[in-house]
Amino acid sequence: MSVNEYELIVIGGGIIGASCGWHWVNATNADVLILEKDQPASKATGRSAGHLNTYASHKFPSAIREYCIEFYQELSCRHDEITIHHDQDYVLAHSSEGADRLHRLTEAHPDTFTYLDSDNLQTTDVPFNTVETTAALTFDRALHSDPYSLTTAMLSEFRSAGGTLKLDSVTDINTDGDRFLVNTTDGTYRSEYLVNATGAWSTQTNSMLDISLPIKARTSQIAILKPDRQLDIPMFHCPDLGLYGRQELGDDVLIGGGTSSFIPDPNGFSTTVSESFLVHVSESSDRIANSLRDARVAESWAGRCTSTPDRNPLVGSTSLSDYYICAGFNGAGVARAPFAGKLVTELILDQDLSFQPEPYAPSRFNEADDFKVKSHSTDW
Ligand SMILES: Cc1cc2nc3c(=O)[nH]c(=O)nc-3n(C[C@H](O)[C@H](O)[C@H](O)COP(=O)(O)OP(=O)(O)OC[C@H]3O[C@@H](n4cnc5c(N)ncnc54)[C@H](O)[C@@H]3O)c2cc1C
Repeated sequence: MSVNEYELIVIGGGIIGASCGWHWVNATNADVLILEKDQPASKATGRSAGHLNTYASHKFPSAIREYCIEFYQELSCRHDEITIHHDQDYVLAHSSEGADRLHRLTEAHPDTFTYLDSDNLQTTDVPFNTVETTAALTFDRALHSDPYSLTTAMLSEFRSAGGTLKLDSVTDINTDGDRFLVNTTDGTYRSEYLVNATGAWSTQTNSMLDISLPIKARTSQIAILKPDRQLDIPMFHCPDLGLYGRQELGDDVLIGGGTSSFIPDPNGFSTTVSESFLVHVSESSDRIANSLRDARVAESWAGRCTSTPDRNPLVGSTSLSDYYICAGFNGAGVARAPFAGKLVTELILDQDLSFQPEPYAPSRFNEADDFKVKSHSTDW
């Protein structure tokens, strides 16, 4: 049986695998293969809200934020199917503690955020429930886009530049001298370098090589609401309520919320939202905007997010030489995919690094570290 040889194999055809492949093929002439067990962008990526820049982006250094925004803006210029939507993000507090947090956040980042107390908020014409909201913070550089189009655009450029994408499931990985032997449902591939970009499956993929790293899968859910009257709502985040949202196509409103539910087996996961999520959305929506009080749920879904102990992703080398991980994005992998693909490519090629790698180095954790999964939506 002939074994196809590649310099790099990326396992996973979500937005992270697509970015790893894109950056590799644009930095080298070397052969690269992306293996995807289902369809590209069919898992967390395709279920995501597609927020690319929100108030929470300040948690990443500006070099990372700027690179990601520029990358997506340039990609959108080359692909008519991509629209980058510009929005204003309102972080709404629904408690006095929340109002204090927003005040402190604005003091720490006065050039980025504007603080509105409840009196100021009532003088604006935003459609939020200003009686329930104790304070708000605004961030006027919010962006969102369709994550499926971003991924397929990257993959189409990846293939045009000589990369190979195969729809094939990795079942087993062995080492053969200084090469990896990657067994799949349809065959065996050999490579010098291997990147694990399997998102919620990354622990399963690591276990094929006896690697243990602290990444856990957790649920995140979205409901699409149809308000009974037209509503032009800006992007919003409500950490006190554990919910976020924005205007969807037409008059629909997207409301999402992470949960702290650990997913023990990503293969056995149901994409149906929980009843408790729908009840929470229904009970909370008029606290966010009065016009959402009688909105009906038109559509809903659940997806597999990931968690790490410090909420930062794992991007870099592992204890096994030439085996890299690019996973654990804690609900922000669409926004950070360009950075992750670039950093992992520069690390493999031993190039000058565009970003500080230490906060994302897998070696910052003890293999034995255990932790509780935590939702992103309750973050301030
Ligand atoms: C409801 C929801 C809302 C979200 N909203 C946002 C948001 O607004 N902004 C944001 O930045 N992020 C958001 N996220 C998080 C974001 O979706 C993820 O961080 C990102 O998509 C991770 O990309 P990925 O490529 O690592 O994972 P995935 O898209 O899950 O891709 C991993 C791929 O690996 C494949 N795979 C697994 N095992 C194998 C194997 N053995 N062989 C071959 N292929 C394999 C899978 O089939 C899958 O396609 C959201 C997530 C959810 C669920």
